[in-house]
Amino acid sequence: MQEELLNSVIKITKTRDIDSLEYSLLSTIQEFINCQRISVFKIIQGQGPCTVERSLTLRVHDVGEYEWLDRVIIDEPHAELSSCLQSACSITMQDSAGTERRWLPIVIHEKTAGAIEVQCEGLDSAQQVMLNAFVRIYENYLTILRENERDKLTGLLNRQTFDKKLKQLLEKQMLEQNRAIRDGSDLRSLHRGATSWLAMVDIDHFKSVNDTYGHVCGDEVLLILSQRMQEFFRSTDLLFRFGGEEFVIVFEPTDYESIKQRMEQFLNLVRKTSFPFIKKLTVSVGLARISPYDFPITVLENADKALYYAKEHGRDQVGFYEDLISRKQIKQHIESSDIDLF
Ligand code: GH3
Ligand code: MG
Ligand code: MG
Repeated sequence: MQEELLNSVIKITKTRDIDSLEYSLLSTIQEFINCQRISVFKIIQGQGPCTVERSLTLRVHDVGEYEWLDRVIIDEPHAELSSCLQSACSITMQDSAGTERRWLPIVIHEKTAGAIEVQCEGLDSAQQVMLNAFVRIYENYLTILRENERDKLTGLLNRQTFDKKLKQLLEKQMLEQNRAIRDGSDLRSLHRGATSWLAMVDIDHFKSVNDTYGHVCGDEVLLILSQRMQEFFRSTDLLFRFGGEEFVIVFEPTDYESIKQRMEQFLNLVRKTSFPFIKKLTVSVGLARISPYDFPITVLENADKALYYAKEHGRDQVGFYEDLISRKQIKQHIESSDIDLF
């Protein structure tokens, strides 16, 4: 038993990404505690009231038969789940048939980040101790993994995670497309003109902010801008700090007109934001479409070219790669097939 337990801890802490960690945790809990259903819930930070997603569920049908349920946004969280998230306390409920439901909070840096829900026939005290210990190990390890993915100053995703996150997003889209084709849905009517987009955002004349007011003020500007970005964009959009004063945003599929409007609104928000000392701050943006068959480096290069164009033509504006190509204002990137980037 002890050996099995140690092996489980080794298995959990061997994982290097957050999604796989969830699979490891749920399968380990199931191994030691016979459950009917185990789920991971997460609070999604973003604009407006907090949203809860059910990140992963393991549903056990019969001995040896189980299924994994994918990510889904919860419109109305269960009352006990909401209480658990708000109070950061464990909650247990038992129905008349003796089935028990437990919610255990996941707390990271003293803030509730989510909860684990377990549905079972009732746990003895040894099982309760074990369940609690697994959730605490998960919590500690999740804290480390999250810190490794994020930029220290702004808290946005860091550049090192970009390839992995983009690859995951493209794989997800491919799966959705394949599922739609398999189910006989008409893709064109499902996503009329909707694709993912990548925006490269660069602060205009940032060097002069540092030169005039000092590096500390420059850092404060980076921090405020990142906070505005987190509030303005959707929680499903991926926000990266890519370099010094450069950010990359990867958007979920949307059509050209919507993304164009959103980027213009963002530029307007930056113009109106008040930063310490500085009278006016603007950003330039390069925007490029992402197709599931693109190499990440190609999309980045396209956005970079569009950004360069925006910088060269007055700054404080959005350059759209496809527009610039069709108007022959920049040259198209030629794919070199001998580069393998993954
Ligand atoms: P452009 O409009 O062409 O983008 O001009 P720019 O001055 O913004 O661009 P440039 O590349 O010349 O300068 C970027 C500056 O960003 C230089 C560097 O000192 C500053 N920088 C990079 N990282 C950080 C950081 O973490 N904190 C602070 N305060 N400044 C940074
Ligand atoms: Mg700049
Ligand atoms: Mg720059």
